[in-house]
Amino acid sequence: MSHFEHLRSHAIPALQASVEDYLAPVSGARHIHLTTSGAEMAFLVAFPTVPDASDGRAHILEHLALCGSQRYPVRDPFFAMLRRSTATFMNAFTYADRTVYPFVSTDENDFFNLLDVYLDAAFFPKLDYLNFLQEGWRYTLDDGKLGYQGVVFNEMKGAFADPGHALYKGLTSTILSGTTYEVDSGGDPLAIPELTHQMLKDFHASHYHPSQAIFMTAGPLPAAAVQARIAERVLARQTDASARRIPQLASAFTTPQRNTVRIPSQQGRDNEFGLQITWLMNESAIPKVAFEANLLSAGLLGDAAAPLMKAMESAGFGRPSGFNGHDDSARQMLFHVGMEGLTEAQVATAEALLWSTLEQVAEQGVSHATLQAALRDLKYQQRNTRSGGMPNVLERLLIALPVAMRDGDVMTAFDSDAILQEMERDIADPAYFKSLVRTLLTSPGRLVSTIVPDVGYFADRDALESARLAQLSATLTDADRVRIAADSAALDAHQKTPFDTQVLPRIRPGDVSAQPRSLPAIDPAAGATHVFSIGSNGISSASVVYDVSAIPAADWPWLALYAQLRDELGLEGLDYAEAGAWRQRMVPSFRFELQPFQLPSGTLQVDLAVSASGLREEHANIAEVLGAYLARPRFDEHVRLGYLIERTVENTLDDLAQAGSGYASLAVSAPLAPVRRFQDAIAGPTALAFTARLKQLAATPEGLAQVAAELARMHAAILSAQPSILCAGSGDDGQALARLVEAAIPVPVAGAAPGPVAGNTGATPLASLPLANVALHAAGQVNHCSIAWAAPMAHHPDAGALSVAAELLTNQVLHTALREAGGAYGGNASYGGDSGVFSMSSYRDPRLAATYRDFDAAIDTLLDTDYSDEQLEEAIIGVIKGLDKPEAPWDAVRLGWRMHRRGTDLATRQRFRQAVLGCTLAQVKAVVLKYLKNGSASRAAFAGNTTQDLAGLTVLDLSAAAGA
Ligand SMILES: [Zn+2]
Repeated sequence: MSHFEHLRSHAIPALQASVEDYLAPVSGARHIHLTTSGAEMAFLVAFPTVPDASDGRAHILEHLALCGSQRYPVRDPFFAMLRRSTATFMNAFTYADRTVYPFVSTDENDFFNLLDVYLDAAFFPKLDYLNFLQEGWRYTLDDGKLGYQGVVFNEMKGAFADPGHALYKGLTSTILSGTTYEVDSGGDPLAIPELTHQMLKDFHASHYHPSQAIFMTAGPLPAAAVQARIAERVLARQTDASARRIPQLASAFTTPQRNTVRIPSQQGRDNEFGLQITWLMNESAIPKVAFEANLLSAGLLGDAAAPLMKAMESAGFGRPSGFNGHDDSARQMLFHVGMEGLTEAQVATAEALLWSTLEQVAEQGVSHATLQAALRDLKYQQRNTRSGGMPNVLERLLIALPVAMRDGDVMTAFDSDAILQEMERDIADPAYFKSLVRTLLTSPGRLVSTIVPDVGYFADRDALESARLAQLSATLTDADRVRIAADSAALDAHQKTPFDTQVLPRIRPGDVSAQPRSLPAIDPAAGATHVFSIGSNGISSASVVYDVSAIPAADWPWLALYAQLRDELGLEGLDYAEAGAWRQRMVPSFRFELQPFQLPSGTLQVDLAVSASGLREEHANIAEVLGAYLARPRFDEHVRLGYLIERTVENTLDDLAQAGSGYASLAVSAPLAPVRRFQDAIAGPTALAFTARLKQLAATPEGLAQVAAELARMHAAILSAQPSILCAGSGDDGQALARLVEAAIPVPVAGAAPGPVAGNTGATPLASLPLANVALHAAGQVNHCSIAWAAPMAHHPDAGALSVAAELLTNQVLHTALREAGGAYGGNASYGGDSGVFSMSSYRDPRLAATYRDFDAAIDTLLDTDYSDEQLEEAIIGVIKGLDKPEAPWDAVRLGWRMHRRGTDLATRQRFRQAVLGCTLAQVKAVVLKYLKNGSASRAAFAGNTTQDLAGLTVLDLSAAAGA
């Protein structure tokens, strides 16, 4: 007997999929299933979590639910399952109004294993006091000095390093005041210590219940099998019901409001002010509301010629802010328009400019072609199988979920064809878009915010925290101190207790394929053009790939600048705005991308790929756009160039703390591998000297002329080689597209490239760099620590054992030392077979010197411990899981191409997989001894302050390096 009733089904022919909607009559639990034919099976359970305080209760609960449950009473079943499962995705997310627990697997046994663990974690977690202390927050007493510690506490201190976090909270807390969106669902580190263990348990009881739950699945699975498991594990045990929570609606302002928002600033420059206008719209779950907001974004801001974008970019001051366009993260749709990089005096000018531009659009409208391109993009997104960072089936579920949670019609979130047809008719009337803009102008539901840089932002927060601790410390009784010490001792003992994981299901090395997964093969005899037939829902893609390895190291930053800016510059006969608008009408996706890689010999190679994708009806457009950008560049728009460079420079300066972990990881590995050296030169601390130089060049007309000349020189150097062409699409589409692309792109002119800059003669071998020993500093409240060693690359016989060693170190040593005990949000080891770098790192770490001591101790612990077969097998599964992650079809083509370029053939992949599957503990210890214990370490950390013990690292101030 089924516990779920089938309500309705809906077929989506464009995706060869259908959606099924079910309801459990007693509890009210909902199950939405998307049948798809791909290999991946996705599951999620979601609860509306609507906190009314910024104490992080929803976020800390998300962490704690994964720390042991009734059926799986082990310390951290989630992290244990990460290494006992072949899941292609496992995570948990806390949003402003919901918490979601998703996973994806391609193996049916593994899927149902994980389903059991996830259901028990969500509905029957243990919510232990000691886990609350570890994951949430706790007091510490170091030599009698009172402090705070905890994983979420430090995770959120790291999140607060992003100026955008403060900005967004500053807008939403006002325009959505009186709702759950007013508070910080992740938790404000200043408010987190107000949360008690009991409050957290109460929050679970009231929010995580079958009557609140929405289950979603996708993939080649029978919905009934999942429902039977949900019924048995959950519904049979919890029979009462209550109405599903839904976030409150904010009441609209009767008159427009103003506020001031302070955001953290590194340098306190006088051009760090900003202006944001935020509108409160109707409910985002109403399809028409969502699509009209989308259309407003595209029409006003979608390309360089869109009126608001053009007004902001050509204002002669400031730049468009990071928050522009529609925003469906709350129950009511928001619409943002704003500028950043303003002086205090320019704030009012910016507001007047935005307002007058809107008034102009309300009079004149935008072209029908622009709005048509916006609808084409929506159609493209619906069919697109590629996604950023997570499996596509899961992404589809996550997009539809908020619509279901906010009482919308979930079918419209999966299938927008009907609404798109309605919109086609709407945009045919020239008055339609004008009226949407007119509504913005007349709506009283808007907030105008002045953004003010605050150089003392972190110091003020630190001072508040210190003052509270000092006040508490003064009133602490002896009994309090005894209790804090007892809690710490109990937690320490808890973390050191080995736990029996036998109760958890697992996939063993014998359960996985001995063969590497197949990738699209590149036929070396095929010449320059390679064609692929892929399952792409009628989307076709093309890449034109130039080998730019001969460009000398001194020019790498120029090459990177070229790749970064080229699609925002003009074409012969078209200025940048006209070119941007033309391209937007022609294709939904276009980009320039640098792809560095390293051959087994250690030689660096660099490709520059120019790629476009579109609907199969648009083959001619794809070819025409690629041809135009390669054959008809222009670099003479110096004012535009000046604006783009200033934007690049300012963004780099604003994000120094935010990007701290990336800087540390490039600094530590640059001396160890050519490919990392290249990345450091274009995006690491080394690139900051170029940022400083660009800033100077952009200040004078002569400097801008020089930048233009350098970009033109790069263009000629790139085009001097014969490119390779990759084309893919459904059936024979790739072939048809390839013929068009071949005819459209320019023939290379050998020897046309002007000579390299004096002193650089092409393939000069890279001079060796000394190992790093540096503390990169920008103001922040956390650190990110890295240590790295040189090791051989993936083709070497030791590579398998090195990759297993990284998993074992992460699972058995670093996770406990750095996260559980140290309070860092993340701590792990990794081995890069493509670079030969072995590293350990921490992320959002309150400690620095102690973390480096833990890195050193980890090596000895690994060498001295006799790990069980189960622990070794978990590490092996961890590596295999990474190798077996499915890619979207076009991404698989591109991966196949990169493997081909790197010289990684099927035999190499097979040898590596065999080495991993057959790896012994003795082999792991041998490589750790050889490359880590007896090797020389490179060390680089990002340090949020320089008054702490820096473990002998030399301070490098990132602002100073960037010439700020
Ligand atoms: Zn978290």
